[in-house]
Amino acid sequence: MKLSKILSSATRPLFSCEFFPPKTDKGEENLWNCLRELQTINPAYASVTYGAGGTTQDRTKGIVTRIKDQTGLSPVAHLTCVGASKDQLAELLADYRAAGIENILALRGDAPEGMDRFKAVAGGFSHATDLIAFLREQGDFSIACATYPEGHPESAGGVADDIRYLKIKQDNGADCAITQYFFDNDAFFRFRDACSKAGVTMPIIPGIMPIGNFDQIVRFSSMCGTSIPTWLHEKMDPIRGDLDAVAALGIELAASQCKQLLENDTPGLHFYTLNKSAATIAIHEQISHYL
Ligand code: FAD
Repeated sequence: MKLSKILSSATRPLFSCEFFPPKTDKGEENLWNCLRELQTINPAYASVTYGAGGTTQDRTKGIVTRIKDQTGLSPVAHLTCVGASKDQLAELLADYRAAGIENILALRGDAPEGMDRFKAVAGGFSHATDLIAFLREQGDFSIACATYPEGHPESAGGVADDIRYLKIKQDNGADCAITQYFFDNDAFFRFRDACSKAGVTMPIIPGIMPIGNFDQIVRFSSMCGTSIPTWLHEKMDPIRGDLDAVAALGIELAASQCKQLLENDTPGLHFYTLNKSAATIAIHEQISHYL
């Protein structure tokens, strides 16, 4: 089903799950087990990330097609501007149309390894805003986009830049936005209010990252612009080396973050599952009466 329809027909907040295409047969087997386990809690849609380079892109296509054909879930294929000309993108979109894939999460993408900045290829796009406009011309896809409540690391003008470009994404045809993960709900609420003042009316869905390994989260957050609040350091630092304790606390903290978001009118939650089901299922159990 189209994302636009899923969102407009929802009578309760939705939850969705994100997966990445594995590189090995074992990883693939793990992904399908994880999907089967998560199906039991009925996510509204399942999105699959998209990496730079040919084989990773083929894997995304293979997985979204199999999700559509073999599970009851509505798939969302991530798509980036990295390394692709308009013609190559048009070809891939024609494949998606033929396979009945209706939903695209349109992104610029990051610079490929070895490059310090993103650079569009000849005949390609520099920003997600342009990819979204192109997608609108390419067929009847429902389009999601990314946004950054604490600012994208490259945004010289801070969050104000991201809000301005989010409005352009909406004007160019995006149906909803999914956020970078964050731990500071107040930052999200401020961002949401500012988006609303700027005329962004599409649903903004918070991305939720259950913490399983705090060292990894600290490293990744420094690259993607997510702040680690002092209270989170104070809770996690003393147990940092004990991964079971970190994962258990990560579930409790994410559940309480989700509760506060749901009590404040968020239209849905998007879980970064990292192809693991346990944390998302445990969090869902604690918030299921809101969904
Ligand atoms: P853009 O919206 O193009 O923004 C990039 C920068 O350019 C920002 O600083 C923005 O302020 C600025 N900008 C935006 N529009 C314009 C404009 N028109 N003119 C001038 N400046 C502009 N990466 C992957 O490689 N694969 C994935 O599958 C993937 N999935 C993601 C899913 C989500 C929900 C999120 C939040 C991120 C995901 N990413 C993924 C990461 C994403 O590709 C990076 O964050 C990337 O650096 C920016 O992508 P974007 O679509 O937000 O870019």
